[in-house]
Amino acid sequence: MTTAAYETLRVERLLEGALCRITLSRVDVRNAQDRRMLAELNHAFTAASDDDDVKVVILAADGPHFSSGHDLSDAQRWSCHPRDITGGFGAEPAGISRGFAKAGAEGYLAYEEEIYLGLCRRWYDLPKPTIAQVHGKAIAGGLMLMWVCDLIVASEDALFADPTLRFGVNGVEWFAHPWELGPRKAKEMLFTGDFLTAAEARERGMVNQVVPPDQLESYTVELATRIAANSSFALKLAKMAVNQTVEAQGFGIAQKAAFSLHQLGHADMRERSVRTEAAGS
Ligand code: ZN
Repeated sequence: MTTAAYETLRVERLLEGALCRITLSRVDVRNAQDRRMLAELNHAFTAASDDDDVKVVILAADGPHFSSGHDLSDAQRWSCHPRDITGGFGAEPAGISRGFAKAGAEGYLAYEEEIYLGLCRRWYDLPKPTIAQVHGKAIAGGLMLMWVCDLIVASEDALFADPTLRFGVNGVEWFAHPWELGPRKAKEMLFTGDFLTAAEARERGMVNQVVPPDQLESYTVELATRIAANSSFALKLAKMAVNQTVEAQGFGIAQKAAFSLHQLGHADMRERSVRTEAAGS
């Protein structure tokens, strides 16, 4: 695989290579995720997985906010998507889905299957512990990136929201809200689009620890260092045991069903926008 250098991320090795820290770095757009960032992130996660010296991966962010979500200016809304789903990064698609440039729901589904649900599923199953280090706002696609990580350390100032009902869908593509928050709080988050504070998120078990902003980085590295003292195989087995338990409870299939509804929501909005345009012309 020939790829260009990262433009949207920084990657560092700490603790003599045992920790890999990947930092989102599109500060000017509050780390909005375009195709290139997601492709680079997939490459960086895969490289961390490939490197036998790396035991724990940290996902952090530059700037005042973790991530404002998907970069909606990256692909033309409701029309065919570009064939290059890596935004010029140059990697092959990670999944088997194809037909990204096809018209209608077909292309849209293929595109989102690859760059959102497919990549997130890969990262969720990375055979090493991952820790999200979150500060500022994490909105919609921002939740997606932190929820696929095994542990989440949040700064006291962190705020979390999924306002995607305003776009006519049932929630962000990585639909994990009921699993992260419980059904009732998940509905409140989705129905209102309101922010959840770091303290509320910890109370719900959505984040592991909440720390003062000036201790976020040091606390996360210290936590990762303690985890890295374990056998990499035992860590992998523990991760598999928990993920398989959640799968046995139906997480994966419920998530695919929610993703289908999400695509129905997109198709509905697309149809309405086409009708509105036709009525106006
Ligand atoms: Zn979508």
